[in-house]
Parts: sequence; C-alpha cells; structure tokens
Amino acid sequence: MMRQYKAVKAGLPQNTLLFFRLGDFYEMFYEDADMAADILSITKTQRQGYPMAGVPFHAANSYINKALAAGKKVAICEQMEPAKAGQLVQRKLTRILTPGTILEDHQVEAESNRYLLSFCFVRQTLHAAWLDLTTGDFQIASEANASNLLPVFTSINPREIVLPEMGRSRWEEAEFFARYKEAFQQFYADRVVSPFADYTFDAINGAKRVADTLGVMSLEGFGIATGHLALGPASALVAYATETLCSPPQNLSQIREYRTNNTLLLDPATQGSLEIFRSTSNNRKGSLLKAMDATQTAMGARLLETFLMAPTLDLATLRNRQACVGECIQVPGIVTELQDHLRKIRDLSRIISRLQNNIRRPRELGAIRETLQVLPLVQRSLAGFRGEAMQSLTERIEAFPELSELLQKSLQDELPAQLLEGGTIRDGYHEQLDAYRSLARNSKDWLTAFEQGEQRRTGIKNLRVKYNNAFGYFIEVTKANLHLVPEDYIRKQTMTNAERYYTQDLKQKEREILSADDQAIALELEIFRTLVAKVLTSAKVLQETAQALAELDVFLGWAQLAREWEYCQPELDEGDALTIDQGRHPVVEQMLREERQGLAGSRAFVPNDTLLSADREQIALITGPNMAGKSTYIRQVALIVLMAQVGSWVPAKRCKVGLVDRIFSRVGASDELSRGHSTFMVEMNETAKIINNATVKSLIVLDEIGRGTSTYDGLSIAWSVIEHLHGSEDRGPRTLFATHYHELTQLEKMLARVKNYCVAVKEWNDEIIFVRRVVPGAADRSYGIHVARLAGLPQTVICRAQEILDHLESKDASLKKHSSRQRSGRTKVTTEPDGPFQMSLF
Ligand code: ADP
Repeated sequence: MMRQYKAVKAGLPQNTLLFFRLGDFYEMFYEDADMAADILSITKTQRQGYPMAGVPFHAANSYINKALAAGKKVAICEQMEPAKAGQLVQRKLTRILTPGTILEDHQVEAESNRYLLSFCFVRQTLHAAWLDLTTGDFQIASEANASNLLPVFTSINPREIVLPEMGRSRWEEAEFFARYKEAFQQFYADRVVSPFADYTFDAINGAKRVADTLGVMSLEGFGIATGHLALGPASALVAYATETLCSPPQNLSQIREYRTNNTLLLDPATQGSLEIFRSTSNNRKGSLLKAMDATQTAMGARLLETFLMAPTLDLATLRNRQACVGECIQVPGIVTELQDHLRKIRDLSRIISRLQNNIRRPRELGAIRETLQVLPLVQRSLAGFRGEAMQSLTERIEAFPELSELLQKSLQDELPAQLLEGGTIRDGYHEQLDAYRSLARNSKDWLTAFEQGEQRRTGIKNLRVKYNNAFGYFIEVTKANLHLVPEDYIRKQTMTNAERYYTQDLKQKEREILSADDQAIALELEIFRTLVAKVLTSAKVLQETAQALAELDVFLGWAQLAREWEYCQPELDEGDALTIDQGRHPVVEQMLREERQGLAGSRAFVPNDTLLSADREQIALITGPNMAGKSTYIRQVALIVLMAQVGSWVPAKRCKVGLVDRIFSRVGASDELSRGHSTFMVEMNETAKIINNATVKSLIVLDEIGRGTSTYDGLSIAWSVIEHLHGSEDRGPRTLFATHYHELTQLEKMLARVKNYCVAVKEWNDEIIFVRRVVPGAADRSYGIHVARLAGLPQTVICRAQEILDHLESKDASLKKHSSRQRSGRTKVTTEPDGPFQMSLF
C-alpha cells in the first residue's frame, strides 16, 4: 500500500496534500501528515515509524476547504473497489483540487466569477487566456503593451495563475520586461501561482488542443485565427484543467477574444480608488458593484461583475442594454413578477458545468427540475413586453417541457445528498426498481410474521429477529430460554446474555433482501446516469437559456434601482463631452439613506452638475475645505460614466456621455508603506502612469496631487501636472482636479480650458456649515482649522493654530515668486500679495 501511495504522490504538483482513501478515512503520511496536523488541526499518529494523520471521509469537505484556504492543493486518491481481506485494494487519483479549478457549490462563492489565468510573453508581446471552469467562460487576449492587459487581469481577480515552469524566467530577465516588472510583481503578490510544463504553452499544438476540447474543427468560427499566439496559454489552461479534473473538461464550448480597444480600461489603482468591486476596507458592501446589484440569482450577480470587468465602448451593445432596462422601467408590475420567478431559479450554468465534469449528485438534478418548472412562468411574464430589445432576449429563453416532465416524473420529491444512499428515483417510475423495492419492503412484513410465528412455535415470548451489518439477520434467544430452542436452529454467535441463531428459511430470505437492496441501488445509479445523459443532450441550449436569464436578471435589477433611486437614461455618443445635471454618488447616496433611517431632519445626498469637454471645459479645478465633498464629487462623475458604459441608467436628472476609453483615478493617499513605498512615491508613480497613458477620450480624476510632500514642492508638481494635461493642443483628456492648493485657481486665467469650481460652505458664528454644493469660482481659503475644531481638537490647540496661521499668512503675503513664461503652455507662478494664503494643516 505504501508503494501505491508513493507512486501517486510522486506524480503530484508541489504544495499538494494527498488525501489517500483507507476505508472510512482519508489518510496523509510523512510530510503531508505534518502539514495536515498543522493547518487542519488534526492529531498526528505514528505508524511503523512514520507520521500519519487522517480525516473521516464523510467530513472531508470541511478539511479540504480548510487546506485550500491555507493555499494548498488537495489531491484525492480513492479506492476503486470494495476492500477484501488480505488483498491490496485498487486505488486511483480522481481529482486535484486547486483554488482555480474547484467546482462544487460549497467551495465557490455563488456571486463571484472564479477565474484561472495564464499568460506568457512571446516576441515581446503579452499573450493571455482566462477561464472560469465553473461556468465555461473562456477568453484570450494579446497586447504588445502589457500594461493594457493589467486592468482586466486585476478585475477578473484570478484565484490561480498558471505560468510556464522554465520559460517565465526567460522573459522576466529580458530587457523589455523591466518596465512591467513592478506592476507584475504587485499583481502576483498574494495570488497562487502554479508552474506548469512549458510544452503545454505551445501555440501551434495549443490551437489543436483547444479546438478538440471545444469540440470544433477550427477556431475560425469564434473569430480566432489558428496561429493566434494566445492559444498557447489557452492550451496550457486546458491541459491544467485536464490534469486537475483527471479528465478533459467537458463544459467548454466557446472561446472569445477580449479586445482592449473596445473596452473602457481601468488600471488597478483606479479600480481600487473608485471602489468598484470592493470597498477600501475590502468588502462587497460599499462598492459600486454592490450598489448596482439588485439581482435575484447568482448567475445574474456574476454577470453584473462580468459587465463591470469590461465596460464597453460599443454603442450598439450599450444601446441594446439600455433599451431592455427602459422597457422594464415602463412596466414595474412585470418586473416584480419576474423577480419573484427568478428567485426560484437555481444556478443553472454552474450545475450544468458540474454535471458535464462528472460531479453528479441527486440534488443537482433536483435543482434543474425546480428551475425548469419556473421557466414557463418566466416566459408567460416576458410575453408582456412589446419592445424589440426585450423580445429578442425573450427568444433566447427556452422552456424544455419534455425534460421538465421527465425530471418531475422520475425524481423523488426529497432527494438524498448522495446517490448511494438510495431514494433518488420516484416510486412508479421504473417497474424493475419498484419490484426490488417492494421485495425489500415486503420482506420486512415477512420478518415480522416470521418473528411472531417463531414466538408461537417455540413458546419463547421474548424471541427477536434482528439485523446487524456484520452478521445479517438472526434470531436472538436469551440465556434463560435456551432450553426451549428447537432442533432446526443453527447457532451463529454467542453473546453474554443470549445466543444468536438462524434457520434455513431466514437465511434464504436474508439473501433475497440484501440482493434486492443492492440491486435497487445499482439500478438507481443506472437510471440516474440516463437522466443526466438526457439533461446533457440539451446542455448547450440550457447554457444559452442560463445566460439569457442572467442578463434578464441584471436588467430587471437595474430597472428596479432606476425607479427606486430616480436614475435617468444617459445619452451616449462618440463625442468627447460629458454633461451631468444633478448627478449623485450611487454608493454614498445609498449609504446616507441607510444611516438616515429613523433620523428625521438629517440631510439627503446633495446633487451636483458637471460640464466637461475635451475642447472647452477640459479641466475642472475644484477647491474647497477638507470634508466639503470634493472627493465624493469627483468620484461620482467617474462612477456615473462607468455605469453608463456598462449600459445601466445613472443617478442624475439628465446625463450625456461621450464615450470614455480609460478612466484614471488617483484619490486619497493610499498607504502602501507596507510594500516599502512611501505614499508620495506611489502617488507620483500613479500620476506618471496617467500622464503617459491618457488619450483625448480619457477621463481623469485627480485628488490632492502633491499632498505627500512639502507645500511648495506639492504645489509645483500639481501646477505642472495641470499644465501638462492641458497641453498646447486644442483638446485634452477630460479632467477633474480636486485640490486644497488655492494658488492653482490662478490657472483659470492662464489656461484656456481650465475652469474653477469650489464646494460651497456657509459660515455662521465662526462655524462652518457644509452645503455640499459645487459652484463655479474658487474657494477663498481652506477652513482647515474649522475642520480641526469639528473633529474635536482641544480649544487651546485650535486657538494657537489660528495665531500661527495669521502670522504665516501675513509673512507669506510679502513673499513674491516669479517665473517667466518660457514656452507655450507654461504659465507664470505668483502668489497674490493681497489674497489670503492658506497653509495646509491636513
Ligand atoms: P473632501 O474630499 O472635500 O475632504 P469628502 O468628499 O471626503 O470631502 O466628503 C466628506 C463627507 O461629506 C463624506 O463623508 C460624504 O458622506 C459627505 N458628502 C460628500 N458629498 C456629499 C453630498 N453631495 N451630499 C451629501 N453628503 C455628502
């Protein structure tokens, strides 16, 4: 057996715990036992001098999940036949569970996609592929500028990255990679990286492997040329999935190419600062994703995430989604009705994928049965929509009446967790099965009758017919009655207080009962297999229906939110203007309402307008005291654009968006000191990235640039960044620039496309009141000391600060700085002698 163990263990990837089935336990040996004792908190024992640790097989799932959570992979080696005394049992590796390839519903979060990513550099170009094995979503991409793919890498948030074992070092040491090194290192950090054989990354053989797995002759039908180099990593993913599933994945039927030039890109820093998928405290709550999510199914929630991973520039797609939402808004009655139906729909796409990949439980079929029962109701409600967009969505939802009837007829109402428990197939569905079952049931009557008959015949009142696993059926007679035992009783076993016997009749019946039970289970397995096969013949259409249901779910949710929060349909075009009337921050607005529940009189979110265009109002410079609402305002603009570019309606009264190719956001001073960078360094890095990558179609949202250094340094950097973004051409990226450097407001006079705005505050009795209103013009001072008072700094500190400020302001007023205009676009820096000057306290 240990030879068997070592042979299996030798073929496993590093960092893998081998769960080796021994009867009712999974055992781990040697270093695996040490590791398991550590991370699974189980007891380690010694067996013939080597360490061993085990977990009961029926409780294995929780241990497997624990090991996965600790970053380990888990290999399962099963017994392939019942144990026979004195003989070595056949065993086989049946599955390797890894973070990127697990499928079971207790292992994967219902609401998130679960990607496995692979990439390589060939001819200085980044080629990548990503795959969600739980649903079969499979995409490839190639980009000469590797940083263009980092946004999507970050947003798909892969649970595991498969990289070539040897080849990786070749590109990582190459000169061209130097400029990506840091970004990639950041991307790898905290992720599971699995090295995999280089030859699986070969694109030529890869094309064939991928086509074979998808069951097609060529990939041209998906618009992918056979020589596409991203088929290298795509093939590595297929090979890796095959290794971990211990057979080729059966649920892949399509592959798409992701194109960066058709997608609104959000680099990793922007995704973080705009809190798109997670809030800064790493919760779903507080994110844009959560605020936009009114879906009823896990499929819908995941699709919404997918939409946000790739906001698009494709007007046709966006208009179609808008039209669907628009139609739903018209008939709120149907929306609630459909949402009620959707709530009963199960995770069809993941269930089909599991069935295809041989994870087959009675309850998975049960879930399909439940779903199919709802589909006719969904169709009936959908018939209420008259518009074209919803009708074409409706056409993609099929009802599968025959399959539905078959599953209702064949499956028991309450289903067991495991097939082997029996009781999956309904009585009356299969004649032979009924016969076995009634044989087993009737035998129970026979046994009762037999027991009573024997009691009468022998005169032993407490004679009992019993059963146990080891000895089968027997007659038990207590010691006191042994003298009454008849001659035809054959002794089976002696107990302390009793003797156990059998008779030829009982023996015969035992054979019948046991074989009927066994045969019933075996037959159930067979029937179940045919049912699964039947379901899988419709797999493709079922998956398409699932996809359409997910879309429906997202649109219904958006319609519900649009009504509830009074969103408007944004007007979209290819221009480079951005107009928002009475825009609101989708997340903050919802949080404010939540906080206000029951607090009468507290204020709701204050809407604000925005006007930006590449050639006129290009840069909005927003000043105002701390806490006035600058960050909230500039983020809200970015989020509204993002919502518009996934097809949703937006929190505004009126909104017009000229499509944006990239959003860059640098908000707040994110503290990355733990990675060994100073905040200022990070800030400058990100600013550099923005300046180097923004185009005329981009939207830039900058908050407090230059805050991490001394006032004059910071001011100078902020000043020249604005100059650069403005440039000397007649247009530039639309930019919102929030700052507390009041001096910057002079730029409005010097640069044609800079406009000043400020967040108004009211002063009242030496106090300030935030009104949260963005108005044209410049703030006259920073009110830092007022905010300090609000925050509860002691009065003595506040007074002293006021004194120092007065002193500094009077000194500073006498300072004059001049720098003459050197070339176009440069401006003269002055600090106005008579204007009030603010020092930053915060
Ligand atoms: P700043 O960036 O100017 O320091 P913030 O944007 O961080 O200010 O906003 C401060 C607080 O004000 C936030 O916690 C937010 O809840 C609230 N706030 C901001 N804008 C609004 C608004 N338009 N309506 C209501 N509350 C707002």
